[in-house]
Amino acid sequence: MILPSHLSVRNGRLRIGEHDTVDLADRFGTPLYVTDEERIQDNFRRLSGALTARYPKVRVLYAAKANGNLAVFRTLASMGAGADVFSAGEVALALAAGMPPASLLFNGSSKTPADLALAVEKGIRVSVDSPDELRQLDAAAGEAGKTVDIAFRVNPAIDVPTHPKIATGLATSKFGIPAGQILHAYREALSLEHTNPIGIHCHIGSQILAVEPFAHEVRVLIDVARDLIDIGVEPSFIDIGGGLGIPYRRETERAPTPEDYAEAVVPVFLRGIRELGIEPELWVEPGRWLVADSTVLLTRVNSVKTAHKTFANVDAGFNLLVRPTMYDAYHEVVAANKADAPAAREYSVTGPICETGDILAKDRLLPELAAGDIIAVLDAGAYGFAMSSQYNSRPRCAEVLLAGKKAALMRRAETIDDLTAPMVRPSWQA
Ligand SMILES: *Cc1c(COP(=O)(O)O)cnc(C)c1O
Repeated sequence: MILPSHLSVRNGRLRIGEHDTVDLADRFGTPLYVTDEERIQDNFRRLSGALTARYPKVRVLYAAKANGNLAVFRTLASMGAGADVFSAGEVALALAAGMPPASLLFNGSSKTPADLALAVEKGIRVSVDSPDELRQLDAAAGEAGKTVDIAFRVNPAIDVPTHPKIATGLATSKFGIPAGQILHAYREALSLEHTNPIGIHCHIGSQILAVEPFAHEVRVLIDVARDLIDIGVEPSFIDIGGGLGIPYRRETERAPTPEDYAEAVVPVFLRGIRELGIEPELWVEPGRWLVADSTVLLTRVNSVKTAHKTFANVDAGFNLLVRPTMYDAYHEVVAANKADAPAAREYSVTGPICETGDILAKDRLLPELAAGDIIAVLDAGAYGFAMSSQYNSRPRCAEVLLAGKKAALMRRAETIDDLTAPMVRPSWQA
């Protein structure tokens, strides 16, 4: 078993940071998300450091959708991160965490009039996804008597090696404006009074384990910048989005390091901008890379059954971690209270949801398991709790944040009352 440096085994038990995961499960109950704040800080320093060492004008915007806990936003805000936000909720979280409006970029291919008005009101830059949206934004800014700085989201038509549901830069993707139409969009923005085109934005997808697609993306964006200069727009930022993957299969998977990533991206960027005689900021929007490995999901075995195969039935399912079901994603699982016991047999770790697809981990060699054991699902910090639901009317679980020897709730578990609280009785029902 290969563990990241903030996880370890002592006395047969899995530890995260300075904490015994079994003690945490006993103290806070299961299921339980546990996040190591220092790991997020380390990740931020590594990624941001690798980029700024090669080009000082780098800005890191945390992709807010990866993990929406306000405590995580605060951690990243205090490191100097801005945020890539997709909704009024993400704007509210970023601002509540102390991120200045100017450090945010409001993204998305389907913004409501209220979203656009919010960006105008708060002075948040907008990544505009279509000419239609541009006109609406210009009108909203005009009504407020303001001007909004914008980028356009470029569709670079790049095929990336990842799960099709998270490849966002394909020519056929719903995101962005095709390269053939992009200049026209900038020209229109120039002709409008209340939108000020100052940036170029792109994001090619998620969980990408090769660096070449990012270098390709930068070349496409430099070409866009060249065309922009021709029409009199000098871009002040080029935002290459996020997408750097992590090695969920540590035994077999090789993932680029931040240094590999920076070395693939920054020299291409520097050559391009020097040739053009411009010095825009380089923006990046990592989500997964900053938070995924900071977090384990602790879940307790309810029962063990040997049928066609052997199932460990646990108390967390795709209601709390949908990635295995939705993306066929692999997450390492560890028997947290038997972490150095020998592997005994293959188990499928299955959740409590009334669906056949509710499998957290398929056919894994694990020690002999019994009811009451604790399974830790690793690398659960990105698109984990953030994509959770109350399906099967299960209240969501708690989240705990660790800092050194300290452990505290950053979200209480929901109760049955939380399920019913927003429900309203139609007047004709007795
Ligand atoms: C999801 C998303 C990101 C972050 O992707 P990761 O793979 O988590 O790094 C960044 N930018 C945009 C526009 C996104 O939609």
